[in-house]
Amino acid sequence: MKNFSSLSEIKASLKTGTLSCATLVEHYLKNIEEHKHLNAFLEVYTEEARLQAQRVDEKLRLGTAGRLAGLVVGLKDVLCLQDKGLQASSKILDGFISQFTGTAVQRLLDEDAIIIGRQNCDEFAMGSSNENSAFGPVRNAADPDRVPGGSSGGSAVAVQADLCQVSLGTDTGGSVRQPAAFTGLVGFKPSYGRISRWGLLAYASSFDVIGIFAKSIEDCALVLEVMAGPDEYDSTATQLEVPAYTQKLDRGNAKYKVAYIKNTLESEGLSAAVKQRTVEKLRWLEEQGHTVEAVDFPLLDYMLPTYYILTTAEASSNLSRFDGVRYGYRSPNADSLESMYKLTRSEGFGAEVKRRIMLGTFVLSASYYDAYYTKAQKVRRLIKEATQALLGTYDFLVMPTTPTTAFKLGEHTEDPLEMYLADIFTVHANLCGIPAISLPNGTDSSGLPVGIQIVADLYQEDKLLAFSQYLQGAAT
Ligand code: GLN
Repeated sequence: MKNFSSLSEIKASLKTGTLSCATLVEHYLKNIEEHKHLNAFLEVYTEEARLQAQRVDEKLRLGTAGRLAGLVVGLKDVLCLQDKGLQASSKILDGFISQFTGTAVQRLLDEDAIIIGRQNCDEFAMGSSNENSAFGPVRNAADPDRVPGGSSGGSAVAVQADLCQVSLGTDTGGSVRQPAAFTGLVGFKPSYGRISRWGLLAYASSFDVIGIFAKSIEDCALVLEVMAGPDEYDSTATQLEVPAYTQKLDRGNAKYKVAYIKNTLESEGLSAAVKQRTVEKLRWLEEQGHTVEAVDFPLLDYMLPTYYILTTAEASSNLSRFDGVRYGYRSPNADSLESMYKLTRSEGFGAEVKRRIMLGTFVLSASYYDAYYTKAQKVRRLIKEATQALLGTYDFLVMPTTPTTAFKLGEHTEDPLEMYLADIFTVHANLCGIPAISLPNGTDSSGLPVGIQIVADLYQEDKLLAFSQYLQGAAT
C-alpha cells in the first residue's frame, strides 16, 4: 500500500472505494509488526483498532462519518485512554490503567479517528534521545544505529516508518520538534494552553503542551482544529475561540518580516550542515521578497539553565505522587513504611528522572529557593518580554531546530549536560509559551534529516501554519 502523505489523500481513496479503514488498519498493523526492531510501540490496540475501523467504514457508508474518518493515530505513553495501560515509559507505573480518556484524545475519537496504540518515549518525557525509557531505546528508521530524538521518539518514528498517519506527542522543551527534526517530519507545538492538558501526565505543568507529528501541514492544522479550545477540566486552557486553521492555510501573497537570532547561527555546537541548510533557507526567503534580518538576543545563554531549573522544580513536585501507595509499582523489598517509600521510588524511577527530582528538590529547598527558583522565574519573564518585543517587530523567528542531526545511540548518555544541549533552540518557545514548528529542511551529507524551526507570537498558530505550508510547498 502506498505511503499516504495526508489525510485528504486517504479520504480520496476511501471515497473512490479503493481503500477502506479496515484495510488501512491492517496495513499499519503489518507495518508495526515488520518494524518491531524500531521499538516505537509499547502496546498495539489490534482488536480495538479493527473494531473502530469497521465502525468508521459503516459510518462512511451511511454518510455520517466525522472529520477524522480514515485517520489512524498513535499516542505517546503519557496520554490517557480509558481502560488502557499508561506508564510514561516508567517502571513506577507498572500495571497502571487509565480510568478516563483525556480531552484532546476524546475530541479525536469524537471525530472518528482510530487509535492504534501507545508509543515509547523517554521516562516521564525527560530526555532528548528516547534512551531513558524503561522499555529500551527507540531507533531512528533513517539509521537504526541512531536515536530518533526525544522525548517523543516512538511517536516520531511511528509516523516516519508509516506505522500510523499522525502521532500525538508532548512538548515541554522540544520533545515534538526535536524528534521531528531527527526523523524528517513536521513537528508542531501549539501555544501553551491552546490544547487542554486534561489527561496528560504532567512533567512540568507550566511548560507542557500536547503536540502533533505529521507528514503534512494540512494534517497538523486539522488535528489542531479538532483538539484545541476551552475545557472545563483545565483552567489553563485558553477561552479564545479556535480559528478554522484548515481554511486559513493560504497566505495569499503576504510578505513577511523574519528575524534570525545571530547567536543561534554562531553557536559553538552547531554542525556545518545544519548551519548551511538554515542559511540557505533564509537566503531563499530573502530572494522571495521577505524581509530577513539578523537580531541580537543576549539572553540565549540563559535559556537552558532557566528551563532546567524551572522544569526540574515542577517535576519534583509533580512526581511526588508516585510513591507505591495507591497504584503502580511497589517495592517487594520493604520492611517498614519509610523503606516502602524509599525503595519504591529508588527502584521504580530511572536515573535521569531521579537526577531531575533531586535537582528540582534542591532548587526549591529553603536555603536555595531565591538563588535558583525565584531567579529563574525572573529570567523567564525577561526572556518572554524580550521575545515579545521581537515578535512585535517581526512576524516570525527562524532558527535551526537542533544543533546537529540525529546522533548515535549511546553517544551522549555519559554526559547529561551534552544531552541537554540538544534542546538549546527549542526550549525558547516553551519558556515563552508561544507556538513553534519544525519543518523538514533537507538532509546532511549522510542523508540524515535536518529540521528548521519557525516561531510565532502567542496564539498565532493560524499564521504559523500558513507560513509553514508555503515553506513546505516551496521548491527550495
Ligand atoms: N529534552 C527536553 C527535556 O529533557 C524536553 C523534554 C520534553 O519536551 N518533554 O526536558
